[in-house]
Amino acid sequence: MNVRDLIPEHIQSLTPYKAGKTIREVQEEYQPREISKLASNENRLGCSDLVKTAVLKAFESTNDYPDPIARTLRKEISQSHSVDEEEVLIAAGSESIISILCRTLFNPGEHIITADATFVGLFVQAGAQGIEVEKVPHTKSFSFDVDGLLNGINSHTKAVYIANPNNPTGTYITQNQYQKLLDNLPENVFLIMDEAYAEYAEDVEDFPQAIVNRKKNIIVLRTFSKAYGLAGFRVGYAIADKDIVEQLLKVKLTFEPTTLGQYAALAALKDQDFIKKSVRTVKEGRKKLYYFFDEHHMNYVKSISNSVLLILKSSEEAKRITNDLLKQGVIVRQTGAFGLPQCIRITIGTPKEMVHFEEIFRTCM
Ligand SMILES: *Cc1c(COP(=O)(O)O)cnc(C)c1O
Repeated sequence: MNVRDLIPEHIQSLTPYKAGKTIREVQEEYQPREISKLASNENRLGCSDLVKTAVLKAFESTNDYPDPIARTLRKEISQSHSVDEEEVLIAAGSESIISILCRTLFNPGEHIITADATFVGLFVQAGAQGIEVEKVPHTKSFSFDVDGLLNGINSHTKAVYIANPNNPTGTYITQNQYQKLLDNLPENVFLIMDEAYAEYAEDVEDFPQAIVNRKKNIIVLRTFSKAYGLAGFRVGYAIADKDIVEQLLKVKLTFEPTTLGQYAALAALKDQDFIKKSVRTVKEGRKKLYYFFDEHHMNYVKSISNSVLLILKSSEEAKRITNDLLKQGVIVRQTGAFGLPQCIRITIGTPKEMVHFEEIFRTCM
């Protein structure tokens, strides 16, 4: 007998999540003269200066368990979105919240429906719970097909998942499309709006305000990992009806997120200037990258997020370019696990990193 066979089949058949390479791994493997980490949609500017002081302060109480509902942070978050405190659930990143949702919402046999080109974390967390993910083909413009999602709903559907803006495509569903979903979604189906990149979409005119325009069956996810630059701290939150939050709290690991994470997020929230600067840097970087790709007649998807999806001729070409870039210190992500193997996702980094990307990319074409 192989001990592996003691594990349920739905776990054995899962594909493990493969994160982008760390700076250290690339340093050890290739010793490039410079490294630009453009593979994981992090904020390349770092985080607010206020975070460091706050985290040092948090050290005074790290022998105590964290506040299970992160009271102080919850209050700030609820005020920043003008919702009730009881409508906020805070956990160790939005991936943890996706896991909580997968452990809470579904009866056996109920499935989730989404696009075939979206956040791989959903596929992993649903798979771990044995929840079937029905994938509706993305539109020609690499967006969620709202009609397709609505048409795909049947008596076994428990939730619809939309990342808005989407990862890895950087596209979004508009206010009109969102309204169509609200108008047509059955009352007994949840809509999970994963807004990990919402800060970057703030001034996009027809971007839907899902937190404001919300029904009882809608769950909105936000994170401190992207624009706030706190990916290493693991803090994310959900905004939902308080009857839902009450149930989710029972399933959440009691003491997530950590005390350090709670303090860090609280400080980061107070520094909206840092967010503005981050968003501005991404916008400028995106524009320059479009210009560069246009100049080289490359195919890409226009993004409102902090990454741009480059479309290659084949998955082989995408793989070759990803590896060539890597050897020279530019870490990007081929998006096979997200359902788009012929594409590469490039996070918009600092101006210096983007110059580095262009310089190396030229040698890889
Ligand atoms: C990065 C990302 C997440 C994960 O965020 P964490 O809060 O770090 O777990 C969730 N959803 C989407 C769409 C993402 O791109």
